[in-house]
Amino acid sequence: MFMADATVSDYDLSTETMDLEQTVKPKKVTFALGVKLRVLSTRGVLDLFQCPVCSCSMYPPILQCSNGHTLCSKCKHRVNNRCPSCYHEINNIRCLALERIAQSLDFPCSYQSHGCHEIFPYYDKLRHELQCKFRPYDCPCAGSRCSVTGDISTLLAHLTNDHKVDLHVGCTFNHRYVKSNPLEVQNATWMLTVFNCFDKHFCLHFEAFELGTEPMYMAFLLFMGEEDEAKDFSYSLEVGGNHRKLIWQGVPRSIRDSHRRVRDSHDGLLIPRNLALFFSGGDQQELKLRVMGRIWKEP
Ligand SMILES: [Zn+2]
Ligand SMILES: [Zn+2]
Ligand SMILES: [Zn+2]
Ligand SMILES: [Zn+2]
Repeated sequence: MFMADATVSDYDLSTETMDLEQTVKPKKVTFALGVKLRVLSTRGVLDLFQCPVCSCSMYPPILQCSNGHTLCSKCKHRVNNRCPSCYHEINNIRCLALERIAQSLDFPCSYQSHGCHEIFPYYDKLRHELQCKFRPYDCPCAGSRCSVTGDISTLLAHLTNDHKVDLHVGCTFNHRYVKSNPLEVQNATWMLTVFNCFDKHFCLHFEAFELGTEPMYMAFLLFMGEEDEAKDFSYSLEVGGNHRKLIWQGVPRSIRDSHRRVRDSHDGLLIPRNLALFFSGGDQQELKLRVMGRIWKEP
């Protein structure tokens, strides 16, 4: 499971003309009178902005107790308004000096330990982190309200261990979906299979849902990675029976897109239930679908 990680490595300040001591003195910054001092913050300075409760970077309002210990405003209620260092009461006293220093410093992205080496001014850092490609992914398992996040290898381990998802190697597949009571669409069937090909991982989703009042089945592929890389791939899905077939060809969406968003945009193979039962053959009381597919890399 991904945990917020505020660990950062030290920066080499040898190329900076200003020493650490000067950087943290509020006086020094105030004297700059509007001249922006852009200084790459060091580990020591960054520690000043780390909330002692949640370990995240503190953003205004930064609060302090009567002894001057700081804390992020989100954590105030978590510690029942008591300073975790000295147990004095924490009111709404802001630490303006620290807030102001922050605006003159550059901070490394919080996902540095995940591979991001970018450095940003205080507020830009927050904006960047919302889009950083090293930020953790949400678990792609829909329907289970899973809150696990992590990088791709963490998620793969989680999917196989905790969701018992099947992992297949290869770029073609042939899957059977069987359901004895196909009338149950509301308590949807969520099925997820992971494929490993081209050294990447793809999730094949199959599920039932209601489109308006029409019961539907849908199959689509998600790419375990960023959208710009997902565009390098294409896939096809084919389902049929009784001498008819439906074919879908598309581009896998990134798992950054929520499962719901992909479904609601109908970006996949949609099979109305009547047709699905017709494909299933027999007395049409049971859903028996064979979905064949292929993934390839665009030249
Ligand atoms: Zn906090
Ligand atoms: Zn205190
Ligand atoms: Zn980043
Ligand atoms: Zn999960």
